[in-house]
Parts: sequence; C-alpha cells; structure tokens
Amino acid sequence: MTQVIKRDGTTTKFDSRKIENAILKAMRYGSGVCDSDVAASIAAEITLDYCTFPEEKQPTVYEIEEKVYKKLIKYGHELTARAYEEYRAVQSFKRQSNTTDESILSLVRNMNEEVANENSNKNATMASTQRDLIAGEVSKDISRRKLIPAHIVQAHDNGAIHFHDMDYSISPIFNCCLVNIADMLDNGTVINAKLVESPKSFQVACTVVTQIIAQISSGQYGGQSLNVKHLGKYLAKSRARYEEMLADLDEEIRERKVKEFLQRELESGVQTIQYQINTLMTTNGQSPFVTLFLEIEPGHEYEEEIAMIVNEILVQRHLGIKNEKGVYITPAFPKLVYVLDENNVPKDSKYRYVTDSAIKCSAKRLYPDYISAKEMRKIYEGNVFSPMGCRSFLAPWKDENGEYKFEGRFNMGVVTLNLVQVALTAEGDMDKFWNILDERLALCKEALLTRYELLKSATSDISPIHWQFGGLARLGKHEPIAPLLENGYATISLGYIGMYEMTKLMMNESHTSGRGKEFCVEVIKKLKAATDSWKKETGLGFGLYGTPAESLCYRFCKIDLARFGEIEDITAKGYYTNSYHVDVRENIDAFSKLLFEADFQKISTGGCISYVEIPNMNKNLEALDQLVTFIYENIQYAEFNTKSDYCHVCSYDGEIIINDDIEWECPQCGNKDKSKMNVTRRTCGYLGENYFNLGKTKEIKSRVLHL
Ligand SMILES: [Zn+2]
Repeated sequence: MTQVIKRDGTTTKFDSRKIENAILKAMRYGSGVCDSDVAASIAAEITLDYCTFPEEKQPTVYEIEEKVYKKLIKYGHELTARAYEEYRAVQSFKRQSNTTDESILSLVRNMNEEVANENSNKNATMASTQRDLIAGEVSKDISRRKLIPAHIVQAHDNGAIHFHDMDYSISPIFNCCLVNIADMLDNGTVINAKLVESPKSFQVACTVVTQIIAQISSGQYGGQSLNVKHLGKYLAKSRARYEEMLADLDEEIRERKVKEFLQRELESGVQTIQYQINTLMTTNGQSPFVTLFLEIEPGHEYEEEIAMIVNEILVQRHLGIKNEKGVYITPAFPKLVYVLDENNVPKDSKYRYVTDSAIKCSAKRLYPDYISAKEMRKIYEGNVFSPMGCRSFLAPWKDENGEYKFEGRFNMGVVTLNLVQVALTAEGDMDKFWNILDERLALCKEALLTRYELLKSATSDISPIHWQFGGLARLGKHEPIAPLLENGYATISLGYIGMYEMTKLMMNESHTSGRGKEFCVEVIKKLKAATDSWKKETGLGFGLYGTPAESLCYRFCKIDLARFGEIEDITAKGYYTNSYHVDVRENIDAFSKLLFEADFQKISTGGCISYVEIPNMNKNLEALDQLVTFIYENIQYAEFNTKSDYCHVCSYDGEIIINDDIEWECPQCGNKDKSKMNVTRRTCGYLGENYFNLGKTKEIKSRVLHL
C-alpha cells in the first residue's frame, strides 16, 4: 500500500477516509454546502491516482492537499475549496507558532527557576521584571529559529559555546560601554526629545547624570561606566558661584561660608546619584548596571575637586543605604572602581586620605574594587581607563589626530568557549585537545561575526541617547552605526571558562602547579593569538575576555554532567571555575593568588578581574591596607569579597550562611525566608542581591578564605 510523507518527514499509510473527512469538514464549517457524494468521488479519484505510483515516489501531504483543492474547483465547489485552503493555513500557522508558550507561562506562574535565577539582579516575581523576561524569551525563540545559524544554535545547546544575551539579540543593541559623559555634560544632550543644557552647578550636574544613566541603560543590555572626574569642573562652578554671591563678606568669613555651602552641595549631589541609581528601575527590569570610575587623575585641572567628590562617594557608600526596615545595608549599585596611583597610595601622598576612605569602605561594603594605574599603564600603552561595566576592557585606539580615545566606545557582545568540554572530548590526548580547540575557535569566530551582522544594519534611531546625543556619538538621524562597529573602535569578545578544570583533566593537577600553569599559559596565548588574527583579518576589535560566568558556571557544568557523567572535581561539584581563576576551594593565600592571576590579566586584555575572599576586616584595616598596597604594586584589577548580610527577623548583622541543603539560613535565628533577609555577594564583577542559581550557590558555599 502507498505511504504518505508527513510534514515532519516521517511516513504514514495512505488513507482515503482522511481525505474524505477533511473535505466534509470544509463543506460543513466552510461553505455550508454538504455534498458527501462529491467528497467520496474526490477521495476515490486521488486514491486511484496514487495506487499506480511506484513505491519510491511517495506523495507528500502537501501534494495531496493541492490535488484536493484543484478537484474541488473542478466539481464547482469554489467556496468549499476556499474553506479547505483557509483551514490548511490555520493549521500551518499553528504549527509555526513559537515554542515559548511553556517557558512564558511558567515564568508568570513563578515556576521557571532557570530564567528566574539567570540574573541575580532581576527579581522575577515582579510584573515589571516579568515583562522584560517575557520579551527575552520571545527574543531567544526568534533568534534561535530565524537569526542565528542552526549549527551555532546547536553548539550553544550542546554547551560547546555560549552565545551570550540571546534574550536581547533580536534588537540591534549592544553590550556595554564607556559613556562619554564629558561631552554630554559640557555640550548638552537630549533626553526624551527635550534639550538638556550644560549644567551650571554640581547639584544639577548630578541630577543630569542620573537621568543620563537611566536612559543609557534602557538602550543596551550590559553595563555602563562613567568617569567621575568629569564632575570636577561642575564642583568648581558651584564654588565660583558661592564666591560671587558672598563677595561682600570679609575674606575669612567668606572662605568659611563658601566651604560650608560647597560641602553641603557636594553631599546632596552625591546622595542624589547614590539614591537615584538604587531606586531606579530600568526597562530591563533591574537597577541600571552602572560603574563609577573613581580616578583622581594626577595633574588634572580639577584634581582637588575630583578628590573631594571621590571621597564623598566613598564616605556615603560606607554608611550604606537603608533597607525597607530602615537599617543601613550594602547596596549592589553603582559599582565603584577606585584607581590607585602615585598621588594616593604612598603614605605621604596628597590624597592618601581618600585611599583610607576606600579601604574602610571595602571592608564594610565590598566596593570599591581597585585598579592599579601603575600596572594598567604597562599593559595598555600608558593609558588608564575604566572597565566597561564590570570587567570588559577596551583595546587602545587612536583617533584621526593620533589621540587615544576610550570614552564613547563600546563592546558589541560576547561568545564564550567551554574549555572544559574541549578537554573532556579530548580524553587526555594532547593532539586531540589542540585539534578540537582549533575547531571550537573557528566556531566562536563565526558566532561572533553573527553578532556583528545582527548589529550592523542598525541606524542611530535605535537609541538616540547613545548615537545622536553624545552617549557614544553625535550621528545624524537615520545615520548608520556600522562605521563605529568597525576598525577596532568597538570591541567584540571571545570569552572562556574553566581553565582550572581543563588543566585538571589534561594534566591531572591544578593550574597553580608549575606544569599546570605552563599548560594554561600556552592555552590562553593560543586564544589571544586567535583574537589577534581575527582582528587583523576583519578589522573588528576582537578581544580576549575572562568570562564572569554568573549563570554560565552552572549551565556548562550541567550540560557536561549529562553528557560525560559525574567526574570528581569537574562535573561532580556542580559548577565550573570562571576564566583563569584559582579554584574557589583551593587553599592559597591572598598575595599568592593575586600574583598568580596577575600573569593572566596581562594576556586576557579584553576583560579580567581577580578577587580575594576575606573575613570581616572592619577591625583590621591595617591588613587590608597591606593588600591594597600589594595590588598597586602587582596586579592591574582586583577586588575583595567579604560578607555583610542582614536578617529582618532577628536583626542579625553578619554572614548569612548556606546550609547543607544549599539554603540560605540566618545562623542566629534559623530564618530561611529569602524575602526576610538581605544577602549581598559577589556573583561576578558585580554584586548580586536577588539570589543565585543552584550552581552559583554551591560555588559561593565552597569559597575558602584567602586571608
Ligand atoms: Zn535571624
């Protein structure tokens, strides 16, 4: 008997009754003219046609439907024919409908743990956040089916690579940037089609800055960084205004009054920034991912004012922000990055008091993180500049006048390579390892070029604040953004994860051992060489980026666990180690850890950060001071992890622990209700305060102290 090829490619037995029934349905619900004789005749005719076919020429369902349609016309049943067509169209529409129904419905029912815990800065139980997450599910679905080549989607699903931020890739928006805040403040900007002129005082400048931050974060998905030094000029303007206002007073009184007024304005301006950023909710369903770069640039025209602003930011952060109970807690935003330089590190340096404020603040509130200007200049052609958001770094780039330019530049996006899977697949065979690595790198390149393709046809209208009004550029309306993506102006990042596990698999030892480190350095140099050659070939700013792996440390491990089984120290522990970092369980002192990781920072120049886990240091600031000085002398970018939690039930102020069932629990009263505690932890370069996925929670539980 004849077989029919169904739409999904499988076959089924030819059945004339199905044809007859379909025609009868169309007659009944479509034209209303039921003629069962005609239905039977058409079915019989088609059966006759196909029973003479040889076996290898199997008809498809589609061909049969075409025949039915033509025969209905022949028999004069035009209305039925149309109804039959319409039914087919509806059926086909239903087949093509998206695959997100389940994920979205479980999301609004608060049952989609995976999406809910993917980003520890989004609270998925809130309607406003859910709308962003729903848009993300739709974007992922369409990107997977229509925008990203099938073999890249497959590699992503198999955990060979991770195509980051698929939940935003449907829109031509990019990852993270350094906001050109100097241009926006000095030359004015436009927000929501309204002109915002250059501010005449510090307080107004601070307000404008928070408005800019809100707008910027809604038009991109990653972090934004602002260099606070550009506010120095506005504090000087306020001082000049007070001096003019009080010109009639005696000099001594005038000076005192000016100082007093200026201090008051400084405090209230900085408070505006801190409170606005913490209370804002962007269209991305979270507080804006903002980094304030605290750089007291030696020799800057407004060096004195900048130091005052930086110090005030640190003093206010040390105090904290009040939670719903009115208790001061550690806020997650903005991230603060403090620059250690010759004018603030030596004990007798002019701004040493600001560094003291920074150390005191880190001990209690985790931030600021530290950049050593000295080490950074060695790596980036003498330049000091902010990471974009948490850890992404630009490569030096010169404009047409031969001047280095960093602010106004951005990162297009990230694709991360799972190094552990390369090692798992190689099964200990070194030749195989390098071959697979080559293949995977080719795949990453292709995936990254897809990112560029998704962006390159966009015009400046996609986000006027970025492209038309100074955030990144001053393009005209409808002008293409493509030229800014090219010639190394923007970066595009190859991320990597699991250097530790990779080395363990290939060398049977940790990468902190001599042999282990040698192997690791060889691998990371290979990755760097790949990005360098891609940059040369395409002109795009490929960079090597140590992936933070917030949710990815869990995702890759879960996929590999299913595929390769439980392997001690690798898949069995439930998470992978991010980038080149030392295994979180390894006993190593803070100084050795920083020194070891510093070598990788010199190669992973598109993104890196190192941390040390420290106990409560509020009573031992001297030890922390030693560490900070060590950072200044030895490593470009580092941070401290400490614990500063709060229990609403018993007012416990200390470390909320993770118990053996991997639940957060107050050690004083046993409270386990996450909505009744404040827990702030370093998830990647950023702090997170909305809890973490299972793998990340296990990783946090495993962290050992380094001091
Ligand atoms: Zn408690």
